[in-house]
Amino acid sequence: MTGAESSFPETTAVHAGVYQDRQYHSVTTPIYPSTTFYFDVLGESPPFDYSRSGNPTRQALQENLNALEGGAGAFAVCSGVTAIHTVLMLLKAGDHVICGRELYGGTHRLLTHMLPAWGMTVSFIDSLQPETIEAALRPQTRLIWIETPTNPLLNLVDIEAVAAVAHRSDILVAVDNTFLTPIFQRPLDFGADLVVYSTTKYLNGHSDVVGGAIVVRTADLRQRVDFLINAIGVGSAPFEAWLVLRGIKTLPQRMRAHEQNGARLAAYLEQQPAVRRVFYPGLPHHPGHAIAKKQQSGFGGMLSFEVDLQCLDMRRFFQSLRYFHLSVSLGGIESLIEQPWSMSHLAMPENERHIAGITEALFRISAGIEAPEDLTTDLERAFKAAAR
Ligand code: PLP
Repeated sequence: MTGAESSFPETTAVHAGVYQDRQYHSVTTPIYPSTTFYFDVLGESPPFDYSRSGNPTRQALQENLNALEGGAGAFAVCSGVTAIHTVLMLLKAGDHVICGRELYGGTHRLLTHMLPAWGMTVSFIDSLQPETIEAALRPQTRLIWIETPTNPLLNLVDIEAVAAVAHRSDILVAVDNTFLTPIFQRPLDFGADLVVYSTTKYLNGHSDVVGGAIVVRTADLRQRVDFLINAIGVGSAPFEAWLVLRGIKTLPQRMRAHEQNGARLAAYLEQQPAVRRVFYPGLPHHPGHAIAKKQQSGFGGMLSFEVDLQCLDMRRFFQSLRYFHLSVSLGGIESLIEQPWSMSHLAMPENERHIAGITEALFRISAGIEAPEDLTTDLERAFKAAAR
């Protein structure tokens, strides 16, 4: 291991956690598919003994991510949903969870369908602010779940303010940081206890891996999450870990390209007569703009917009796009567009979607890294074709 971390994420992303290959001098970390590792001597364990418990390729990714995030430990798991599930398994029957109403659909499904089966309860509140949290607190509250920016409306939650309320009692704060990555937001710096990722998105960045990760703030949480990952057997497979590690090496550069395109598309959409509202924290009039400036070092590449469905035939709109794929997921190098109502958030019951502000007129964009001119031209063509 080089341990070559730097105060610059560009350097850390390339060098942290990279294993030095003393045999062949490879500059990248090899993929170790081996399920088991031999002992030289009975009673003296090698650094890894069995790949469910630990694997050198997975370990390299974990060290890299932990260095970028400034954590006490990181864990690479099979998917983003696995990461969320694992964090929920830190709780026990009788415990209570508080979270915002607007959430990634898969998180909502876990909280509403799995939590009750484990004897836990959850309160969904309109927005995660100190006053609303205080009102929802119970003696059994053990976890506050934050998504910021929220998916898909890009609302912001002040992590520091929430952590201040939580830490007055014995309550953990977990942040799903999938939309921003450590390049634009480091929740642990603002008092969060756990950071959760779908590495399927920006961290891998090339739409070719399903993966997840958890980063923790304390040695105690590191030990507890490590135990769970071995006990449930949800650690990332070596090839997937290797792909994510490879993706992370260009994360800082990709995030800046995603952000530039996100900002450009937000500005373009604001000018369109058929667009009613644009949700992008980088817009100065966005209600969360001040919080974004406080806790983020970039606004990211995710945005959503609401259209006037009377003015646009959205089927024709999507058929006219050449570069944007009509597709769920996000954070890859290619631009994606989707309708949360019928796609990413379908797992939420209809009334919950309405209450959260997710309507059929809302569309979410994950800005890729293509030339911005091509993306605006693509949308221009689609708006023209779809006009009623
Ligand atoms: N968190 C967020 C914000 C997401 O958007 C997603 C997936 O879209 C997940 C978690 C779940 O990740 P995965 O699909 O890798 O399980």
